[in-house]
Amino acid sequence: MIQTVGILGAGQLARMLAQAGRPMGLKFIFLDPAKDSCAAEFGEHICADWDDEVALRQLAQRSDVVTFEFENVPDSTAKLIESLCPMYPPSRALFKSQDRMREKSMMQDLGIPVAPFQAVSSRPDLIAAVERIGLPCVLKTRRFGYDGKGQMVLRFQEDLERAWQDLGDHELICEGFVPFDVECSIIAARATDGETVYWPLTQNLHRDGILAISMAPAFDQKLQARAEVLVHRLLDHLDYTGVMALELFLKDDELLANEFAPRVHNSGHWTIDGAPTSQFENHLRAICGLSLGDTQGSFRALMFNLLGEMPGYTNSQNSDRPAIPGVYWHDYHKAPRDGRKIGHVTLCAESDAGLRARAAQLAGELGVVAELNLEAVLRV
Ligand code: AMP
Repeated sequence: MIQTVGILGAGQLARMLAQAGRPMGLKFIFLDPAKDSCAAEFGEHICADWDDEVALRQLAQRSDVVTFEFENVPDSTAKLIESLCPMYPPSRALFKSQDRMREKSMMQDLGIPVAPFQAVSSRPDLIAAVERIGLPCVLKTRRFGYDGKGQMVLRFQEDLERAWQDLGDHELICEGFVPFDVECSIIAARATDGETVYWPLTQNLHRDGILAISMAPAFDQKLQARAEVLVHRLLDHLDYTGVMALELFLKDDELLANEFAPRVHNSGHWTIDGAPTSQFENHLRAICGLSLGDTQGSFRALMFNLLGEMPGYTNSQNSDRPAIPGVYWHDYHKAPRDGRKIGHVTLCAESDAGLRARAAQLAGELGVVAELNLEAVLRV
């Protein structure tokens, strides 16, 4: 029986995994180089670098199963852990997701539609890629990009040189720009025996490359079924265990994949309060060899991220956070910093009208909601 779960990384995703797992009777050990990791209060924290072999061996020895919340865990670290104890999702999923070329090529091979793409490692490569793909296009670093970092949209021929100056030190990928109608994500959990469950397709709104708002359910059953087929291909191909998120663009009723995350995902945070089983609980259920919980609720849920600092702590006018039925606050207990994800709020209601009413009530109390322009998602 699994009693102790080791997690590579101790940020907010690890924190929410532990919050879901403690009522299940699980204990947690985190490995993270950062001293002030926000998951640490929910378990033991081994403060060590990703390549500290002694610490990694200690984590593996003391865990019944290991998982990760952080996509840039070095491949050698993941492989070492995997050689010592069960680790889910498998390192091959991590390996594919860490390089946009490997990721896109795999998706293409699996018949998952993606925008045209081409590897770029030199100026002539860039010119050739833009010639083939056309403008506008997006130039991205193949590795270590997150929250819109390490990427530029090229609209005019003059942008090529500037982009090369900024990004040319890295291995790159050039992708066709998708003038999407909306962005969405499908989150699935796969158990060790292949049983797979899906949460409702979620609509996402990004601001400055960072997820701002997610809402679900937001689409009809036909689109849901099509998205499920796409993520299922990845899960089966990778013989995957755990939660995976597939980020998609919707354009003229066509779904194009952008990227997948081999972990619990920000666009699934609404499942904590808006679904019968959260992505965090089902991830733990999957990696612990348990059966998966129900994902289909009756609510509509809308989540927005809190960036910088928690409202209500520093503003004397909002010295308290209002307790409104159907409104759930999540504070990651992270030190405030400009642009940092420090918490989220989920609104749950029976209908769009209910969501609007809750949002209006919240907006009346906190300016932060007004700035979000929730109408942009509620309109769809
Ligand atoms: P990524 O780091 O690939 O998840 O990109 C961050 C955000 O940039 C996405 O959520 C989109 O809003 C936007 N983006 C990325 N790739 C493209 C693309 N090929 N076409 C249009 N927008 C994109």
